[in-house]
Amino acid sequence: MAISRRKLLVGTGVGAGVIAVGGGATLLSDGLPSDPDTLLRIDALPSDDPTPGWFHTSQKRQPQPPLNGDAEAPWVVIGGGFTGLAAARQVALNFPNDQVILVEAQQVGFGTSGRNAGFLIDVPHDIGAPDYIGDQKIARNILHLNQTGQRILHDLVEQYDITGAQLRHVGKYQAAVEDSGIAVLEAYHGGLQKLGQPATLIDGKDLPDHIGTKFYRKALYTPGTMLAQPSGLVKGLADHLPENVTLYEDTPITAVEYEPQIVLHHPTGRIIARKLVLANNAFGTHFGFLQHRIIPIFTYGSLTRPLTKAEQDSIGGKDFWGVIPADPFGTTLRRTHDNRILVRNSFTFNEDGRHKPNATAKFRQSHRLSFERRFPTLKDVEFNYTWGGGLGMSRNGSSFFGELRKNVYGSLGCNGLGTVRGTAMGTLLADWLAGKHHELIDFLLAMETPSFNPPDPFLTMGVNFTLRQGMASAGLEA
Ligand SMILES: Cc1cc2nc3c(=O)[nH]c(=O)nc-3n(C[C@H](O)[C@H](O)[C@H](O)COP(=O)(O)OP(=O)(O)OC[C@H]3O[C@@H](n4cnc5c(N)ncnc54)[C@H](O)[C@@H]3O)c2cc1C
Repeated sequence: MAISRRKLLVGTGVGAGVIAVGGGATLLSDGLPSDPDTLLRIDALPSDDPTPGWFHTSQKRQPQPPLNGDAEAPWVVIGGGFTGLAAARQVALNFPNDQVILVEAQQVGFGTSGRNAGFLIDVPHDIGAPDYIGDQKIARNILHLNQTGQRILHDLVEQYDITGAQLRHVGKYQAAVEDSGIAVLEAYHGGLQKLGQPATLIDGKDLPDHIGTKFYRKALYTPGTMLAQPSGLVKGLADHLPENVTLYEDTPITAVEYEPQIVLHHPTGRIIARKLVLANNAFGTHFGFLQHRIIPIFTYGSLTRPLTKAEQDSIGGKDFWGVIPADPFGTTLRRTHDNRILVRNSFTFNEDGRHKPNATAKFRQSHRLSFERRFPTLKDVEFNYTWGGGLGMSRNGSSFFGELRKNVYGSLGCNGLGTVRGTAMGTLLADWLAGKHHELIDFLLAMETPSFNPPDPFLTMGVNFTLRQGMASAGLEA
């Protein structure tokens, strides 16, 4: 490791920061000396709001302690979400004699992977194509990829009896109220038929028997989706990693050196890695890759208190269902295993990937409006939790999969579909690293790179404009 003799050691202190001192010496605030020419400080660390409903209502678990001091391993995976958990597991299975370190800045289940709406969707949905399917070959690969992720998650839940995942194979409703939304459903129905995937259009008058609301005019039901309690699911996955994986939670990587060897700095020490896998979604851009290509966009969810028996009876419908909107800027809705209603909508651009202090209060009001439109008889049912979570979005909808530089690999940029896709991509990345062959690996390696966006101020202006326009045009779908 390139540590110059001129460097000074200072007392330890939590939090990253490079302090330049006279004579060219550089001190890290983690107290460790390093070479200023090769050291990259990670200038944005995950910091999510404290109220993710799924996290607080899922099984309590004892998180793995943070790494204290130095460590070394042939493999290090950064990011304890769906992608990183899958990558670490599969690297460990493919290389049973190697130790794998998995580091997560927060607790597993607290970050975006535990904050989503819990849809494990099988069918592709290309919003850029007239029939929402587009190129059949690509669509078949996406379907195969999504089904691979579903199968992996389903099998692990069964194998380890992860009851907290509340995983059920119940399908999903994609619902519309505006004419534009109905046109989307009809076109998509045609696209799915071409792909040979089952899908049924349901008229608005029949929808209350399914989802307990008269709000929608039409829905497209596809049976292949599974629904989960996402935080319970990833917590369970973290508790059943192979023996040669060591998970460190609450361990943010604060700086990195790639040459002459990979050194990861954290608040109390360093990790030396032979090979590094980045599975930290939009935060991967702070490690020197894909800048202006993967953009941190936040979206927001609220969970009501559990409905009473009388309230459940008053709305009717099935006791467990999920609705996604026909308009991408519309509202996602779920009735959960514990009889709460989930509402998800609204987007913001959070440049540094961290939550914004007033956002949850603001979007709780949007959720309230959307909820009361759909369930006017439940006006007295309050929200217990409102939270936000960061997505890694790209303009062309593409993710990154493969080698970022020598001995550094990544599966980055979830594009809002990372439960199954991240699981499949993390697993396949590990298989590719083990020299295995699979048609999906070829597909992922040939995927377009996430497209480049102009830097600020154009980036911020452009993203904010697109989000505002999208949210405004969603109309009643919001
Ligand atoms: C409200 C909401 C609803 C959603 N609904 C759905 C849905 O229904 N279905 C679906 O498929 N997807 C949904 N998504 C998207 C889904 O949650 C993501 O696609 C998925 O979480 C991506 O998984 P990942 O493992 O790639 O990344 P992440 O879940 O973002 O995990 C990356 C992890 O890396 C960690 N990390 C980052 N930087 C560092 C560092 N320096 N050191 C250590 N650790 C670090 C982070 O703390 C984080 O836990 C939704 C998202 C939100 C916010």
